[in-house]
This record gives sequence, structure tokens and C-alpha cells, in this order.
Amino acid sequence: MPAPLDLAPRADAVGPPLLSPALDVLATRVRTAGPREPLAVDSPFLGGVIGTVPACSEQDVRLAAQRARVAQVAWAERPVTKRAEVLLRFHDLLLDNLDGGADVVQLEAGKARGDAIEEVLDSAVVARHYARRAPVLLAPKRRKPPVPLLATSTEHRQPKGVAVFIAPWNYPLTLGITDAIPALLAGNAAIVKPDEHTPFSVLWAAHLLEQAGLPVDLLQVVTGAGPVVGAALVEVADFVMFTGSTATGRTVARAAADRLIDYSMELGGKNAALVLSDAELDRTAAGVARACFTNAGQLCLSAERVLVEDAVYEPFVERFVAATSALRLTRSFGYDGDLGSLASREQLAKVEAHVADAVTRGARVLTGGRARPDLGPWFYEPTVLADVTLEMRVAQEETFGPVVSVYRARDADDAVRQANASPYGLNHSVWSRDLRRAESLATRLRAGTVCVNDGFSLAWGTVDAPMGGVGASGVGRRHGDHGLLKYTEAQVVAVQKRGSISAPPGPAGAEYASRTRRALRLARRVRWL
Ligand code: NAD
Repeated sequence: MPAPLDLAPRADAVGPPLLSPALDVLATRVRTAGPREPLAVDSPFLGGVIGTVPACSEQDVRLAAQRARVAQVAWAERPVTKRAEVLLRFHDLLLDNLDGGADVVQLEAGKARGDAIEEVLDSAVVARHYARRAPVLLAPKRRKPPVPLLATSTEHRQPKGVAVFIAPWNYPLTLGITDAIPALLAGNAAIVKPDEHTPFSVLWAAHLLEQAGLPVDLLQVVTGAGPVVGAALVEVADFVMFTGSTATGRTVARAAADRLIDYSMELGGKNAALVLSDAELDRTAAGVARACFTNAGQLCLSAERVLVEDAVYEPFVERFVAATSALRLTRSFGYDGDLGSLASREQLAKVEAHVADAVTRGARVLTGGRARPDLGPWFYEPTVLADVTLEMRVAQEETFGPVVSVYRARDADDAVRQANASPYGLNHSVWSRDLRRAESLATRLRAGTVCVNDGFSLAWGTVDAPMGGVGASGVGRRHGDHGLLKYTEAQVVAVQKRGSISAPPGPAGAEYASRTRRALRLARRVRWL
């Protein structure tokens, strides 16, 4: 069992890269077949390199898969309750190390403290949920055989084998580890590829899992470039869980289809918040601001379009702009900020390009609209745009940053129409005092989740329910029962106890046909079928 990592000390405000020694220890968890080029990981807060990880090769991926396959066989033989004990200990370790985990996430992702803490808490919630649910979901289930008494049919759930996880940088801990948890509980091995910008959060979680008693080779972390390591992973996988952009998702899906392996894709979004005329405006303005600017808008579920009913457009927008301007942009390891930095130079460039395109074509900046190099290299102000038209990039493409556009809607039906006019369909929200009407309206929205009077936390936090997107936002779901069962193959074992239900050869077939017809009529009467 590894020794606990010493992540202290850290500076109270903006820490110099004091965690580097611990990050170096974490980097040694990545195993390579030979010396590899180091990949530098930058800190969005500090602007400098905080550590390096190896740029793994295809060979390293194949070796990781070989080790994972060996470990998986022994793991799958353990009773599920024993597997669950490891994940329950992981839950406790996450809570015991809440601040250490948030430090690592903040250092490499540059987000606000509250957003980083949420990642650790979310990982703990998912671990405990599935640790308790797995024994129920994986228990063999008796199914109805065609004829009662003569036979039994039992559905078993067998692990797929080696599941691979390709993760993005925006929630490096949550999206790097929580999908692997149900897969491990189902008896699989897992190989995780974190994004190049944010490898340490997953390595930290792997460290804790080992402390919790997970066999070393069962969860492997491989680091490196997506087109090399990610593509090689699809070649060794029995299941691919991909979270990232729609464009890369399509590439991964094509490769998975070629191998006839199953996959699940959580992709981009262009989510809308629908503000109805009966919404409680102060509360809604604050709630929609949170829906748009959590994690500086680098959240697949965040709203980038606010559709406001005409009747309340002016008073709502006034409050929304005020709520947005009041958000605190800080570079801090404390709880004194609402938004942190963007995660990379590329993200800042994309945000600036989207705003410049909109302004050039006639959009108005109601608040924000500027980079803030005085705070850190990639900071950008929370920004609200008006007079946005459909040919602008912010109207069509996912910005994935702190930029939101407000649009007028004639009425609620028009808001629904505008929300649905997108190839994406991930997560929308409806804001209204009339909860019944809002809930009914929600079902007309084309999206995997819709929240009423909340931006996204309620749907995400309901880990008992499936979560995912439709259209260009994804295929499959995480969370809920399906979030574990997708890592299994259904296997039915049917046992003939006496007699036979098959047709006998020759003339006896006529008697069989009439007997079976009588049996089917009886089955209908007693509602067996
Ligand atoms: P991305 O697609 O560029 O990268 C995601 C991951 O895929 C990274 O680990 C990357 O290294 C890897 N990758 C890149 N090329 C690859 C290839 N050819 N084969 C295999 N893997 C490859 O995405 P990104 O820009 O880093 O992440 C942001 C996107 O992720 C946004 O579109 C966002 O909406 C989406 N996202 C979706 C969800 C969700 O649950 N729906 C959650 C978070 C982020």
C-alpha cells in the first residue's frame, strides 16, 4: 500500500509550485516500456510548469492492457461485496483528503476553489452510490422461461474485460475517475487517459484507490497525446468511455465501430436557460449566472444561451448583468473567488475569437469582454452579449468559456423552439414559479437532462438517474443503473429441468403444435405471457 502523499505545505493565496515533489511521485505511476519524452504540465494560475508526465507510446498502451487483463481475471473472481469494500474505503479517503485533492485540481486546471472541491465531493458520492448499488445490479436475475416449471432462465452480468476512459481537462478528477468506478465494481479493469493538460488529478485518485486496496495493475493511467495514446487505447479496449469534443468523439466512434466494441460518448453542448415571464427574477438572475459561469463556463452542462420571454426581457437582463458583474474573478487557493482561470492558452484564444467575431458582426458586450492578464495568463471576464444573430460563432458553436448570449423569445413556445434549434442536446434549464408548467415544458426540450429553477447541479447530482446527451451531444449515458450495466455483457443461462420445449421430429410434430397452442392460450389466461 503506498504511503499517504504529503501535499503540504502550500501557500495560502497563490502558491508557488510547492506541490512539485508530490506531483513527481504521482508521475511515477505512469509505467512505460522505455524512456519517454516528458510532457510539461502548466499551471493556469502560475503560468509555469508544475510537473511532467511521460508521453506514452502505443507500446506502453499495449503493455498497460496486458497487465490490466491479468489483474482483471483475479478481480472479477472476487465477490462484488468485496470489490465494493474497496470503493467504500476510497469514498472515505476522498473525504479525508478533500483539500489535498482540490489543491491538485486547482493547480493543473486553474479553477476556483469551490469548483475544485465539488470534483472531490462528486467523486466520493459516485463511489459510494455505486458501491452500494453494484451488489443489487450484478445479482443474477431470474427471468421467465417460456414454460413455467420445466425450465429456469437466469440473467447474469459478466464484465466486459478492459474498459478504457478518455477524459477531457475541464473536470479532470470527476471526468477522469468517476466513470471508471462503476466499471471496476462490475469486475472490469480500467485504463484511463487523462487530457495532456491535466494528468495529475487522475493520478492522485489512482494513488488513493491503491491506498483503499485496489490491486495495482487493475487501474492503469497512461499519459500522452490524444491522437497517439487515445487512438491506441481504442485498439486494446473492450469498451470505450469517451468524454470530450464532438469532433474527437466521432473519430473514436468510427474506430470503435471498426472493432465492433461498444462505447459511450459524452460530448459538447450549446445549452439554453429558458426564463419564463413568471420567473422570480432576482433568484433567477443569480441562478442563471451560476448556470453560465461555473468553472468559468468550461462545463459541458453550462448555459451559453439565455432565452428570455419578451415580457420580462429588460428587467431580467438588468439583474442578470448585475449578477454577472458581481462575480469575483480570482487566482486563489481559498474560497474568495467565484471564477478561476481558463484552463489553457488555446481556450483563451477560442474565447477571444468568439467574442471578437460577435462584436465585429454587431453584438453588444453588456458586461465583461476582456482578458485579464493582470490576474494570470489565461483569465477572462464573465461576459454577457446581446444583439447576437444566428450567423455569429457564439450562436452556433460551443464556446466552452465564460461567454453567454441573451436572446428574446416571443413566448414560452418560441423559447422551446429556439432551444431545440441546435444539433446539440445536452442540458437545458427552465426558470418559472409555475413548477407544473415548467416541468411539462421541460419534456418538450430535446436534451438528455433539463433542470427547473437550477442550472445543472440537480440533474448531475442525481447520480441515481442517467445523464447524457442526444444528437451531437453524445451516445449512451453515465450515472444511474445504466452507468454500471453498460460495462457488462448480459448473459442468460437457461436450464431445462424436465421435458423439452423443442418440437419433436416427424408426425409427433402435429401433436406438439396443438399442445403448444393450448399452452399458449393457457399462458394468456393466467397472464404468464
Ligand atoms: P477533446 O476531444 O479535444 O479531448 C478529449 C480527450 O480526447 C483528451 O484526453 C484528448 O487527449 C483525447 N483525444 C484527442 N484526440 C484523440 C483521438 N484522435 N483519439 C482518441 N482520443 C483523443 O476535448 P476537449 O476540448 O479537451 O474537451 C472539451 C470538450 O469536452 C467540450 O466540447 C465539452 O463540451 C466536452 N465535454 C463533455 C462532457 C459531457 O459529459 N458531455 C463533459 C466534459 C466535457
